[in-house]
Amino acid sequence: MSEHVCLVHYHELGLKGKNRNNFERRLIGNIKTAINEMGLRLEVRRISGRLAVLADTHEQCLSVASCLRKVPGVARVSCTIRTQRNLDDICSAALLALSWVEPFLSFKVNSRRAHTDYPISSMELNSLVGAWLCERLPQKRVQMRSPDAVAHVEVIEGAAYVYSQSQKGIGGLPSGSAGAVVSLLSAGIDSPVATWRIIRRGAIAHCLHFSGVPQTPDTSKHLVREILELLKPTGGVGSLACVDFGDYQRNIALNVPEKLRVLIYRRLMLATACRYAKNVGAKALVTGESLGQVASQTLANIMAVDEVASLPVFRPLIGNDKQEIIDEAKEIGTFTISSQSHEDCCTLFMPRSPETQAKLPEVLDAWASLAIAEWLDSILANIHVEKI
Ligand code: ATP
Ligand code: MG
Repeated sequence: MSEHVCLVHYHELGLKGKNRNNFERRLIGNIKTAINEMGLRLEVRRISGRLAVLADTHEQCLSVASCLRKVPGVARVSCTIRTQRNLDDICSAALLALSWVEPFLSFKVNSRRAHTDYPISSMELNSLVGAWLCERLPQKRVQMRSPDAVAHVEVIEGAAYVYSQSQKGIGGLPSGSAGAVVSLLSAGIDSPVATWRIIRRGAIAHCLHFSGVPQTPDTSKHLVREILELLKPTGGVGSLACVDFGDYQRNIALNVPEKLRVLIYRRLMLATACRYAKNVGAKALVTGESLGQVASQTLANIMAVDEVASLPVFRPLIGNDKQEIIDEAKEIGTFTISSQSHEDCCTLFMPRSPETQAKLPEVLDAWASLAIAEWLDSILANIHVEKI
């Protein structure tokens, strides 16, 4: 008898020594949540160095694999047929697995046994299964280097898992294993990618968005929600909090030297994020800045903004070019949402020529001229938090 099993492979978890159990448990929990979110109830089992998700059909196995590849910690997901360890069953399963990847001309068999208690070595298994397939597939040829199709056979804990379809996972570490961060999320291209990257490394991202409301419409809030819906299958999206920032920006624009406006907006954003971090138990902030990309992202300006932060500020994109960030946004799927035109607080009251080499004393003077403590109290009191 054969069964359809989604085999989840993970690499880095294996390196975590004593923590391994904890990481595996988290990964299993996140995988179960992702499957539940698909409206399915499937059994998830741990088998030496892999996780097995028991599916009802091959089609279901494929759709579960497409979802699970986006779960942090997953290196690869394979749609397998689980059989008894006898050669006849393994060969038939390999023929079936290859039929799912037609059309192909060349193929090979790639076997692996997790334990040496199985009497046939990997090399022997390759040639036995290969010879059997050659008889039944006279139009196809065996090719060792870059074949069109591969029949994989993994013998693990009393069963054989046979597959030809496998999807690369996003890698990283299971969500929640690294703790919580506050991610400053605009509806632009960069910060969704930065948020995705920190989630991939195991963080739970509580996202904080500043809209231009009431000076602009609330389009950016809708876009940010869409972005987070898209990132949700990672299991790393904690919550979304929105701040109506337009009036504060107007006040800043009226009261500080024009060229320092953006730096003061950013300082107020970071100061808000540090206060908000306490509410959600976050230990760091994340932004989508990349060195020198725009005026506010020069070293001098980053330093003048960071001075206000009482928590570490992570910038996962600091060394990336814009084109690299765009390519990644397309891969993740956020690019089309981020490209929709919207007015948010970034476009509001922009100075004609912003400062590029801020002098900290000037920035501190401008900052001290504002009623920041009161503003922070009222921003925090009016922050609107939603669960995604
Ligand atoms: P992005 O594409 O992420 O908006 P950007 O290249 O437009 O980035 P800036 O507008 O200077 O650069 O913003 C720098 C960073 O500050 C953003 O990546 C984001 O982390 C944060 N930020 C900017 N605007 C907002 C906002 N409206 N809400 C939350 N965070 C913001
Ligand atoms: Mg922006």
